[in-house]
Amino acid sequence: MNKKAKCIKPAIIIGAILVTVLYFILTVERQQSWPKKRFTAESGYREIMGTFVRVMAVATDKQTALACVEEGIKQLKLVDNLMSVHNAESQISRINREAYSQAVKVTEPVFEVLQRSVEYSKLTDGAFDITVGPLVDLWQQAGNKNIKPTEDEIASAKAKVGYEKLVFDTEKRTVRFAVDGMQLDLGGIAKGYGIDSAARAMQQAGAIGGMIDVGGDIRCFGAPQRGKQKWSIGLQEPKTDAKGLVSRQLELVLELVNKAVATSGDYRRFTLIDGQKYSHIINPSTSSSAEGLSSVTIIAEKATDADALATAVSVMGAEKGLALIERLADTEAILISSGPEFKQTKTTGAEQYIKK
Ligand code: AMP
Ligand code: MG
Repeated sequence: MNKKAKCIKPAIIIGAILVTVLYFILTVERQQSWPKKRFTAESGYREIMGTFVRVMAVATDKQTALACVEEGIKQLKLVDNLMSVHNAESQISRINREAYSQAVKVTEPVFEVLQRSVEYSKLTDGAFDITVGPLVDLWQQAGNKNIKPTEDEIASAKAKVGYEKLVFDTEKRTVRFAVDGMQLDLGGIAKGYGIDSAARAMQQAGAIGGMIDVGGDIRCFGAPQRGKQKWSIGLQEPKTDAKGLVSRQLELVLELVNKAVATSGDYRRFTLIDGQKYSHIINPSTSSSAEGLSSVTIIAEKATDADALATAVSVMGAEKGLALIERLADTEAILISSGPEFKQTKTTGAEQYIKK
């Protein structure tokens, strides 16, 4: 071996060691940016927004962590009281009763969700549409009676659906229906909005980290529990057994920091008519239930976006849905087709969040 080659070999080894040490220092440095001494408090499962809710808060002292959990729960209840169609006193119920005869003034959070919903309708070519209420009701009643709705019933409900029939006055913060019988349903976005409101309130109350889970729509922020560097979120396999019980198997596990994850699917909530499964998500262009995907998971910065997009992509289908999500910054999708194939497809950036 000549003298030059003898020098190059140790230089490469030293270089590799230096790179490794630097990477280690940078990684450890980043990992240690969260205080070592941190406490976690959690709510256990509670029933809010028509589903099971769990809030976890991380803080530098136990008292703050406990207070932040209660703050998160309080925000979720507040949003539910404003936006639930199952609560006759909510602002959405009031809009549904009165907005055809007169413009109804609403609070800022409700106005914000209505405006965001219309933005999502435009972005998704009408796949996401909070005015689907009459069609949701029709298919629910059909399920109860076990008879498919007639063409006339579908046409009559369809005439009352369409986000372009919502009339807003931004100055006065009011909303009005252009057609009699319109009904709003915020089921596809309110959970996400509630989660984002809870996250904001918890951070303001001193949480350095937290996780809010509303029926499987989740947002995690900041520091995870002590000893962990990321939040782990399991995605359920979208299968049900002969009794309709959801599989306990996990499709995959996501590892995230400062992200929201929402899953829409026909495996948990659906209507059976003549033994055929109809998703609770309505495709406004066919006036029937969405078909083709058993589970749609969206990863985004905010839960409001993840929630609305998961519902929209369930309607749009794999091809159009993936194309839309690929176009959006910091947003990924993992789709599973309907059975018996249960084929998984995802956006190019989704892999980085899947635990190996
Ligand atoms: P999610 O579980 O977030 O996908 O929301 C599903 C719920 O959103 C349904 O139960 C309905 O209340 C409502 N919904 C159904 N179809 C649509 C749609 N095309 N756009 C917006 N919301 C919908
Ligand atoms: Mg949704």
